[in-house]
Amino acid sequence: MKRSLAVKIGIWLSAVFILVALFGWDLLDDIEALHHEASFVEESNRQSHDLHALEMGLYACIAPIKEFLITGDYRLAERFDRQSEQLLRSVSLYQQSNNDEAAASLVSAIKRVHPKAQVIFGLPFAVGNMEGPILLHEIETEVRQVSEQLSARHHKMDAKVNSAMRMLAGLRMDIRNEAVALLSVLLVMLLLLARYMYNGIVRPLVDMRRAVQKVGVGDFEIACERSSDDELGELASAFNAMARALKEREEMLNSARSMAAHQEKMNALGMMASGIAHEVGNPLSAISVSLQVALQKLGSKDLESTHQKLQIALQEVERTENIIRQILDYSRKDDQQPKRAFSAVPVIQKAVDLARMTSRSNAIKFRTDITDRLPEVWGLDTVLMQVLVNLLLNALDACGEGGMVIVHAAPGDDGVAIDVRDNGPGIPSELQKEIFKPLFTTKPRGMGSGLGLVISRELCTRMGWELNLIHSDSEGSCFRIWLPSPAEEHVS
Ligand code: ADP
Repeated sequence: MKRSLAVKIGIWLSAVFILVALFGWDLLDDIEALHHEASFVEESNRQSHDLHALEMGLYACIAPIKEFLITGDYRLAERFDRQSEQLLRSVSLYQQSNNDEAAASLVSAIKRVHPKAQVIFGLPFAVGNMEGPILLHEIETEVRQVSEQLSARHHKMDAKVNSAMRMLAGLRMDIRNEAVALLSVLLVMLLLLARYMYNGIVRPLVDMRRAVQKVGVGDFEIACERSSDDELGELASAFNAMARALKEREEMLNSARSMAAHQEKMNALGMMASGIAHEVGNPLSAISVSLQVALQKLGSKDLESTHQKLQIALQEVERTENIIRQILDYSRKDDQQPKRAFSAVPVIQKAVDLARMTSRSNAIKFRTDITDRLPEVWGLDTVLMQVLVNLLLNALDACGEGGMVIVHAAPGDDGVAIDVRDNGPGIPSELQKEIFKPLFTTKPRGMGSGLGLVISRELCTRMGWELNLIHSDSEGSCFRIWLPSPAEEHVS
């Protein structure tokens, strides 16, 4: 079943959400319970503190009675009234705020103590009067009973607080454990998500970027792995289809280029045809004359002269063969062969010979200026021959009477530089950047195709060479072919 990237990411996020919800729910419950217990503890503590204060207040309330029995100071009665009223107000406040009836006994105790206290304060001060101490004893007994009730309540509350504190500690531990579990689950989910994102999205994209870069530099053999059935998988398939289509087109383009290069070669051969015919014609006439004379001499039995004429005819046949071989060599279509190390020297010689044949007249002079022991270069000799012939034919076309074409070859820049220099009128500076563009020609119709330099540069690029116009002015032009030396592993 085909699943889209958005659905997959949705499933992942839902899984994360469900796990967070499951673990988070317990955590929230416990946090709420903790909050509840904490407010209970706080409330109970406050209540216990209030009860304690009331208890103290009760003892403080009966203190003026005791003091009166010792000092006989009647003003202490007012103090007792004030304090007992204040205590009653505190009790009523406590009951309101705590909704606790525990202090009700306190109110009734005060009410019972009050008339007894009034009696004591009404007694005349006399040592030995025992009524006062007896009443005080009753009051103290009353107060102690209430105090004991309050203490019991107080202790009960403390016990509750203690158990709530224990619960709080347990809840805290639970919350910590649940938080650790939640974080661990989140971490594991995030790690799994990151792994999925890397394997399912990032890695295929990085592979694809690498593949696109390879296709960009002309390597169409690359294929992206279809690692998923989502949009990225479809993208990989589409990319592979595109690479295949580009490869087919590149092959078609290469064969078209090769055909164009060969066509240009044939054009050049056509241009050279009349010169070649003339070159071949000369030895053929010489052969014909020599054979005729030999025939005559054969009749007159002049064997020595016959032998001499046949020798001449044979030499001319060899010369003709040589010319034909050079032409065949030139017209050979083998620019698809593997590159190899070769010496440029014989190639330069043959190209110059061909050009010399083409010029037909001695009006244009050819010179080669080649450094001794020129190092070998890397590529195809047939391609160098084609490029050189093209440059030489252009130089021939440019030169008039008294023309001079020099081919200079010397080592340079980790390879060999071959310069083809002429003393023609040069190329105007505004046209110099046009000459390597397709179909640019200044030659009359039928004489130039405007493809020679384009195809020559294309062939050089394919071989890893460079072809440039390095100089041109009114005294002539110079084109340079730079060919690299063979790499270390190719040197025998
Ligand atoms: P074509 O020779 O068919 O015109 P090329 O691409 O070989 O096509 O040359 C393009 C143009 O470059 C030529 O028409 C010519 O104007 C100019 N050119 C090439 N070589 C030379 C040269 N040695 N001297 C002067 N002009 C040249």
